[in-house]
Amino acid sequence: MKNFIGGEFVPTQDSFDNLNPATSQRLCEVPRSGAAEVDAAAKAALAAQPGWAALSVEDRATWLERIADAIEADLDAFAQLESRDQGKPVWLAKAVDIPRAVSNFRFFASAVRQHHDGVHRMPGALNYTARNPIGVVGLITPWNLPLYLLTWKLAPALAMGNAIVAKPSELTPCTADRLARLFQTIDAPAGIFNLVHGYGAECGQAMLEHPDIKAISFTGGTATGRVVARTAAPLFKKLSLELGGKNATVVFDDCDFEATVDGAVRAGFANQGEICLCGSRLLVQRGIADRFIPAFIERATHQKVGDPSAPDTRVGALNSTAHRDKVESYLKLASEEGGTVHGGGRPALDAPFSSGAFLNPAVVTGLAPTSRTSTEEIFGPVVTVHVFDTEEQAIAIANGTDYGLAASVWTQDLGTAHRVADALEVGMVWVNTWLLRDLRVPFGGVKHSGVGREGGHYSLEFFSESKNICIKM
Ligand code: NAP
Repeated sequence: MKNFIGGEFVPTQDSFDNLNPATSQRLCEVPRSGAAEVDAAAKAALAAQPGWAALSVEDRATWLERIADAIEADLDAFAQLESRDQGKPVWLAKAVDIPRAVSNFRFFASAVRQHHDGVHRMPGALNYTARNPIGVVGLITPWNLPLYLLTWKLAPALAMGNAIVAKPSELTPCTADRLARLFQTIDAPAGIFNLVHGYGAECGQAMLEHPDIKAISFTGGTATGRVVARTAAPLFKKLSLELGGKNATVVFDDCDFEATVDGAVRAGFANQGEICLCGSRLLVQRGIADRFIPAFIERATHQKVGDPSAPDTRVGALNSTAHRDKVESYLKLASEEGGTVHGGGRPALDAPFSSGAFLNPAVVTGLAPTSRTSTEEIFGPVVTVHVFDTEEQAIAIANGTDYGLAASVWTQDLGTAHRVADALEVGMVWVNTWLLRDLRVPFGGVKHSGVGREGGHYSLEFFSESKNICIKM
């Protein structure tokens, strides 16, 4: 793999191995970039940006559609690669990750065509708002939904006329590289999308510090988000931070039982529990707890774990053996904190998967809602279960973490749904569903889950600067 700078693939002196987490075999070598490579990428972006911004909105939108078409034509190869790099089932990458990357480009092509700004008349004068690109923007993305989250930022940033320096996670760089190849194949203007690979503390840090990169859109862990904020804020860079979560699935006695068990299992374990929105805390009202919790444990712990290319695999490999070790350390902690762990443990798989980063889904009962296991983000196939009596108790438990990303509420009572949704300290609430997405709505969290919103006009506004022009008549 090479960096993609100014429309060319450029080698670096150093590199490191990238492993397939399902087999621990070497997948490719990744360039190890630092300040020099980031500087070259920023210069290429700076040179390309004025020409890109000078294109009409219609022309930029048409480019986004060409990129969408090119990804779609290559969907199978992208999905295979995402699975080998990330560990997720191939069917999931085919059904969700890659189609969503296509939608991201198509959606923002349409959104930028519709976007308009205000005119404010006053006695004797007229104000109008002009919206200009920021210039060069930096995109830093995590390993759980690699292409999905990169394109969620890339599409609106390009749509608004910016040029990009992007760094995918060092653990999942492959589909970003394939995307760069598509940019070259379709002859997209050179320098509008520059890709630098490497470690966060070297390459990512250099992006935060680079004077020509005027905005940073970051998705990742809360601890890293703190470093990003600490570095970029004194430089007055525009910042968007999409961080971690410890989301509650709140189940009331009057829920649709079967649909809710299924929904709670999906919310807890989709993508191996490696989605920031995963419902990793299950709160069940006492009236149905004796029936609901065993049904949930049964379904959660009987999901097929293993070969990510098998169509019936529900839980693939975790993203790395180091991450699997971290998740396992939380199961150990759960026992020390007095919980009972149902499931968990490493599955016995045949070669080549016997060396992979697999972990059986685990459900933990009997923990205090304030325990570390129940309040810290684990980001793996682990759900803690808590019983509540009243709506007030459910709200207090759900709000009892530093995180505030998302929640789901399961009830047939509209009043309960409205009251609980209103009281939850989160950026997003689903009622009787989970992860149902409309790309126009605000996406993001409160508390330690982030600052700012993505989606629809929120993204278009983040990736631009508004200027008021006041004309005296
Ligand atoms: P992470 O360790 O915080 O890394 C995120 C990105 O930041 C990676 O590209 C990483 O590079 C880079 N990075 C690390 N140190 C950096 C530094 N000093 N300066 C600049 N960049 C740096 O997160 P992760 O483990 O990849 O992802 C999991 C986390 O992301 C979870 O907490 C999850 O909840 C969160 N997440 C949030 C959302 C959301 O929308 N709110 C969505 C998805 C995931 P390297 O990987 O190369 O170190």
